[in-house]
Amino acid sequence: MKIHEYQGKEILERYGVRVQRGIVVNDTADIAAEVGDAFDQWGSGAAVIKAQIHAGGRGKGGGVKFVTSKQAAIEAATNMMGMQLITHQTGSTGQKVRKITVCEALDLARELYVGIALDRHLGKPVLMVSAEGGVEIETIAEERPEALLKIPICPVKGLQPFQARRAAFFLGLEGDQVKKSVPFLLGLSKAYLELDCEIAEINPLVVTEQGEVVALDAKINLDSNALFRHADIAAMRDEHEEDPKEVEASKYGLNYIALDGNIGCMVNGAGLAMATMDTIKLHGNEPANFLDVGGGATEEAINQALRIILSDPNVQGILVNIFGGIMKCDVIARGVINAARDVGVQVPLVVRLEGTNVEEGRKLLAESGMAITAATSLDEGAKLICEAVATHA
Ligand code: GDP
Ligand code: MN
Repeated sequence: MKIHEYQGKEILERYGVRVQRGIVVNDTADIAAEVGDAFDQWGSGAAVIKAQIHAGGRGKGGGVKFVTSKQAAIEAATNMMGMQLITHQTGSTGQKVRKITVCEALDLARELYVGIALDRHLGKPVLMVSAEGGVEIETIAEERPEALLKIPICPVKGLQPFQARRAAFFLGLEGDQVKKSVPFLLGLSKAYLELDCEIAEINPLVVTEQGEVVALDAKINLDSNALFRHADIAAMRDEHEEDPKEVEASKYGLNYIALDGNIGCMVNGAGLAMATMDTIKLHGNEPANFLDVGGGATEEAINQALRIILSDPNVQGILVNIFGGIMKCDVIARGVINAARDVGVQVPLVVRLEGTNVEEGRKLLAESGMAITAATSLDEGAKLICEAVATHA
């Protein structure tokens, strides 16, 4: 699960990490009044207006504005609120800005990078630091790996003070800054481990002209499977920022991920779903989604899954590929037929069933009187749906 920058900063503050403070203003607020008050509250004659969306690269996209008067703050906030903010992480339609923050303005002396992510080869979280902050870290990792220091973190003991000092020296911090950065990095590591984060990234970590070490940005992604352990964090979810089809699917326990192809897939089991997507690509089309309806694949789940697939206007055809193991194929066939009738499928529908009672299942499909094409293998199913889409279009 992703959260907003201001929520990430809230979390980090609990762990003693010094963050750039911000006051949240919602799109329902009296923007002029609230932004004006917030600007005055900082009392420095400057502020930074920041769009809160679940994507990075806001600065380049016009979602971060440094302002030096109350009037300019209100103007920037008014323009930003409600805009479709496009960054390299949002896709071409962008993301609607529903919240902004009015942040304290800081005088930056240096912009650094600090992040913790899971290293799947090491099987541990890794602290990554670089003196080149503010830019995309992926580029640095690829082009100049020596500019990035990686320190493995013990998942039980967490980051150790000597490791934090090593990171501080690599960042070129000196004297008092080293002293400040140690509890900062230890707090970040503690937050990462205790809250089951997937990534906790501060880009940039800044050193101010006054010598403060401050998190100017915070990107924290949490392991969705561990959210039951953190009710307060789970409550930070902002469904506006997620694909509405994915939000809908999660209500029915479906594992659904929207993609940008033209063939909707309905499959039981993640491995079979992956294989189905591959086979569609092999036959020259692109999957519109990943969808695992689960081992049970009840009629209700099939019904909802079909609705969600069809709510995607890019879907030109659907391939159902279900293995009847615990569920019998005749039961599944009946579920697909009822759901297709109920939902009113207007695009080609190919169904491949395999497993227990498969003959009865196919017979039901054939006798349904509906425009459902039965396939006997995955390869044939993928081929049939790709052909059907080509002729239907
Ligand atoms: P991102 O573009 O979505 O990663 O948003 P960030 O929160 O990282 O902000 C982008 C950039 O805005 C930072 O790298 C800074 O260069 C700049 N910025 C943000 N806050 C301040 C501030 O208080 N003072 C100054 N001088 N620059 C800031
Ligand atoms: Mn950033």
